[in-house]
Amino acid sequence: MSNQIRVRIAPSPTGYLHIGTARTALFNYLFAKRNNGKFILRIEDTDLERSTKYYEDDILDSLKWLGLEWDEFYKQSDRLPIYTKYVKQLLDNGKAFWCYHTKEELANEQQEQMAGKQPPRHLCSYKGENHKSPAYAEASAGRQETGSKGIIRLKVDENSERKIKFRDIIRGDIEFEEKLLGDLSIAKDESTPLYNFAVVVDDYENNISHIIRGEDHIANTPKQILIQEALGFDMPQYAHLPLILGQDRSKMSKRHGATAVVEYSKLGYLPQSMVNFMAMLGFTPPDDRQILSLDELIEIFDLEKVHKGGAVFDIKKLDWLNGEYIKRLSDDELEKALLSGIHHNYQLTEVMGKPFLNMVRERIKKISDIKEFEFFLDGPNEYEKGLLKWKERTDEEVTGSLSKVRDIIEKIGTDDKDKLRAELDVLGKELEDRGLVYWPLRVALSGMKASPDPVDIANILGKEKTLEHIRGGIEKLG
Ligand code: GLU
Repeated sequence: MSNQIRVRIAPSPTGYLHIGTARTALFNYLFAKRNNGKFILRIEDTDLERSTKYYEDDILDSLKWLGLEWDEFYKQSDRLPIYTKYVKQLLDNGKAFWCYHTKEELANEQQEQMAGKQPPRHLCSYKGENHKSPAYAEASAGRQETGSKGIIRLKVDENSERKIKFRDIIRGDIEFEEKLLGDLSIAKDESTPLYNFAVVVDDYENNISHIIRGEDHIANTPKQILIQEALGFDMPQYAHLPLILGQDRSKMSKRHGATAVVEYSKLGYLPQSMVNFMAMLGFTPPDDRQILSLDELIEIFDLEKVHKGGAVFDIKKLDWLNGEYIKRLSDDELEKALLSGIHHNYQLTEVMGKPFLNMVRERIKKISDIKEFEFFLDGPNEYEKGLLKWKERTDEEVTGSLSKVRDIIEKIGTDDKDKLRAELDVLGKELEDRGLVYWPLRVALSGMKASPDPVDIANILGKEKTLEHIRGGIEKLG
């Protein structure tokens, strides 16, 4: 076996790429790239009823969107003869056997064990003989009687005093008692492997050196080790990543917010900030840097330094990071981001000059926030006339101020921002109230109380549109 580092992620195409799986993919990717290794994508689609092409495509698209390109790819459904070979091998050498207990029998067994304060596990009475024995023939006959199709199990020694041990790169030594595992189901039939079995076969056939996956798989590891032993395979190295938690420190789920990567792309997050953010879910850079590209992360990533404790998903931090990445986009990149994706509004090209991009860049946290700028196209949203009012000033005073602003703009236009600002400031002095000048203007142009600087807005809108909206404000006040 070569010493090359080979890692994999193994998503099941039964749902959208989950943020947890994406984080697992990222850590595998970083570890592989850091060590000149290979990052492999395996689609675990042996559950044909629940797996779909739609979700498979989503997983591939989402990984590509994040920039986590794989070096090798395969699907379990393309490899069924390989699993069959190994299932037969275990049946032939008596390490595995057919079990014909019905669902009800298994459920009863569990209930009895629980009642007797025993750990639930199946201790199978069919395992005495392998499938070639007379007992097997008898059992097969019994199969018709019980109506059970049967399932293939690995024989596990229920009297074993052995501890199954492995060293986890993140968590240190972990051990499980062999006798608590029971006879493990490994395949529904010779050509339908179950999860733990297929994983072991694939990881071996594919020379996987390190299994880096979520903490929720720790309990599967001793089962997989027993299957490796039965097949005579070497044990890969393990690293189990901490769970991603919601703000309330329970496992992250839909009730905490979006869990699918594709939802974040639709919400207008940039892939580079998602990657940066996910890297911090369980890993802290050795220096104080917060903003790190994929390449910089490869430089500093250290699997041994991954945290054991759960990683809290803080959407405020993601928003902050994303805003920082948006600030770093060039005009071209920002324009592209605004015009692609689902938030695009091609009409935006009408106003898409440098001033507009500068304004947007400073203010949005995510691309979808661009909807707050739609007043540039369609004029201000319907707003209450009361919004135009400044403090306790009367309608007449507000109308008077707006009319004077209109006169100024009619005279000098909106191209020269400094000049416009200076004139408006003079008006503010005359009226002895700066707010009386700027507040109604802001509302007339944007329809919002929190908007960019009204002079910047007027400058982007141009003279005609600016005058039109000021007139609209004056009319509203009657
Ligand atoms: N299909 C499993 C999952 O999506 C992968 C398990 C593993 O990495 O071994 O969680």
